[in-house]
Amino acid sequence: MPGKTAPSRPPGGGYSNRAQVRRKLAHESPRGVARNRRGRYFVRMTQSNLLEELSWTDVEARIASGTRTVLVMTASMEQHGPHLPTMTDTAIGYAVGARVAAKLGDALLAPVIRPGCSDHHLAFPGSISIPESVFIDTVKATVRSLAPHGFRTFVLLSSHGGNFEALGKAAADLEVECAPDGIAIIAFTGREALHQTMASMIGAAARLGRPQEVDAIHADVTETSVLLARHGHLVHLDRLEIGKMGHIDLDELLTKGLRGITPNGILGDPHGATVEIGEAVIESLAETITQFVRSRRGR
Ligand SMILES: [Zn+2]
Repeated sequence: MPGKTAPSRPPGGGYSNRAQVRRKLAHESPRGVARNRRGRYFVRMTQSNLLEELSWTDVEARIASGTRTVLVMTASMEQHGPHLPTMTDTAIGYAVGARVAAKLGDALLAPVIRPGCSDHHLAFPGSISIPESVFIDTVKATVRSLAPHGFRTFVLLSSHGGNFEALGKAAADLEVECAPDGIAIIAFTGREALHQTMASMIGAAARLGRPQEVDAIHADVTETSVLLARHGHLVHLDRLEIGKMGHIDLDELLTKGLRGITPNGILGDPHGATVEIGEAVIESLAETITQFVRSRRGR
């Protein structure tokens, strides 16, 4: 910045000047700021598992030290009932993806891809959907960008039900394309993976006293709880409504659209959501995915 002197940084990267601290507090999450014994503020450098939080030199160093797996999480920008924000699946994607990366210990989470395939939500204001071909190309471009940097395994994941089929198509193409270079594609995709995802989430809530009799979930107690745990200020607890319960035909849902099946956009019941259930849902789904990845990687 011309005319201004660069902020002085004491040894260890600490910030001694109050104006500097205020600037840092305004731009960084509070978890990164701490006080030392003398009461001075300093910025705690953390080893993030999120690719977007690292510099290129950090990424290079992580690859050199054995981090060779990238988690490519896909999500959505779509209605989640009257009480949750349109970024709900994206928030779940970040929470679960970061936990999987931590469990694996040698993986980074790529920026969560969205919007996704949400044609079946477009009857609700605020939902955005991209064509399947655009979605598939975006997933492929992410892998093609990162593979030459030295990553050897890509794990394709989704926190949004509507992406599972398209993600399977992207995976099939990428497997063929990447095999000659010895790059592995692990895809948690298809209808079976979608059912496993929902069962893992429903099971976590049931173990904490909130079982649901429903075939498919959307803006229900599990998703509402994750948002309460991570973005509580965006959850309207005064607007909770029960959604469609019991039997839900997934094919009918994807072709007819949600609005024809559930007027408020909810599948399942959001009542009884808690931070504790949210953390349990994140842990359960992350463990389900981690076990799948380990079984495919052989460790
Ligand atoms: Zn969702």
